[in-house]
Amino acid sequence: MALHPYDLYDVRSLLSEEERAVQDTVARFTDERVLPIIGDAFDQGRFPKELIPEIAELGLLGSSLPEEYGGGGLNSVSYGLICQELERGDSGIRSFVSVQSSLCMYPIFAYGSEEQKKRWLPDMAAGKVIGCFGLTEAHGGSDPANMKTNARKDGGDWVLNGSKMWITNGNVADIAIVWAQTDDGIQGFVVEKGMAGFAAQEIKHKMSLRASVTSSLFFDNVRVPEANRLPNVKGLKGPLGCLTQARYGITWGPIGAAVACLDEALNYSKERILFDRPVAATQSAQLKLADMARRITMAQLLVVQLGRLKDAGKMAPTQVSLAKWNNCRMAIDIARQCRDLLGGAGITTEHVAIRHALNLESVITYEGTETVHQLVVGRELTGINAF
Ligand SMILES: Cc1cc2nc3c(=O)[nH]c(=O)nc-3n(C[C@H](O)[C@H](O)[C@H](O)COP(=O)(O)OP(=O)(O)OC[C@H]3O[C@@H](n4cnc5c(N)ncnc54)[C@H](O)[C@@H]3O)c2cc1C
Repeated sequence: MALHPYDLYDVRSLLSEEERAVQDTVARFTDERVLPIIGDAFDQGRFPKELIPEIAELGLLGSSLPEEYGGGGLNSVSYGLICQELERGDSGIRSFVSVQSSLCMYPIFAYGSEEQKKRWLPDMAAGKVIGCFGLTEAHGGSDPANMKTNARKDGGDWVLNGSKMWITNGNVADIAIVWAQTDDGIQGFVVEKGMAGFAAQEIKHKMSLRASVTSSLFFDNVRVPEANRLPNVKGLKGPLGCLTQARYGITWGPIGAAVACLDEALNYSKERILFDRPVAATQSAQLKLADMARRITMAQLLVVQLGRLKDAGKMAPTQVSLAKWNNCRMAIDIARQCRDLLGGAGITTEHVAIRHALNLESVITYEGTETVHQLVVGRELTGINAF
């Protein structure tokens, strides 16, 4: 019996019927709606906003949140599969869904008041309100405790000053979850588009995640009502709790990108005739392809177990760090090798490898760089903080 080339260990058999149905639905969306347009969108540096209603219709925004708030009530493995299949299309599309679901809807759900949940979550699940998440500042994203953006209480309002950088969805967002220093530690605020003194500026000249909007946010004496402060968390654990959710999704996403690249390189090398035989008939090409399949298989097994731990309430942030590090490194290495197997053809966006390789430069950097996650694992082993 032939094995499936992109699932050599039959990891799909570890999935429930519902999880498989989720995977198949999102795979179809990626094949039919994302792949036909994404190369051009990347070339043009354009986020395909027109996909948002369909993404919402499929229930991919806030898919793990309870149905009473517009969520899908799906488990974590299903959320991971959504990320994997979307990123098989493009990391930018997966980033949009990650930010909306894990970095914006999750903090409102986990740290917000009942009024805040009712006010924003159903519209966010429907794709009518788009969110962004402002944690990183220009002077050092790896060290978020060194935050300069601040909020001062003034009567019934808060007055927000400072700036954020590298914010996904910044210029398409209706609301921003902004983390700021206060007299009482770091707190989260829902800043609304149109509030006086709040501005977003798109970051241009990106060579990565070109089909995604990335922005700087500026706050100049922005008056935010107390009703927009997230009341149920204080300190860095607020944003870090959101990052654990989003990073979990990112452990799955790059598997999709890697599979897309392997699929392309496998087909290309079987058809490309050099020295009277297909490139795929050479030992060096087979070694490369076999190594890719080995690394994808390990990544697939890692995330299924991670998802099961998360659904059992037993997932530790260090486990997420190890998987984010491993799977981003796996995917970026595979994308670059596939680019090489395509020769000159691999440098254009007519093929997927270079687009994924460039996108993965962001994915391996954001939500904690590779080094940051290695240091988290090192700290777990040694008990010594080496940051
Ligand atoms: C496309 C894109 C989208 C993003 N979206 C968002 C978003 O929506 N919201 C948000 O808040 N942020 C977002 N980010 C920001 C992202 O999380 C940061 O870029 C990331 O955390 C790294 O921060 P930095 O860029 O300031 O790099 P720095 O922190 O300055 O890191 C520079 C280098 O130093 C290394 N380093 C860091 N600490 C140590 C150490 N202790 N020892 C040794 N080396 C170290 C790093 O690994 C890196 O190589 C996004 C970034 C990108 C590129």
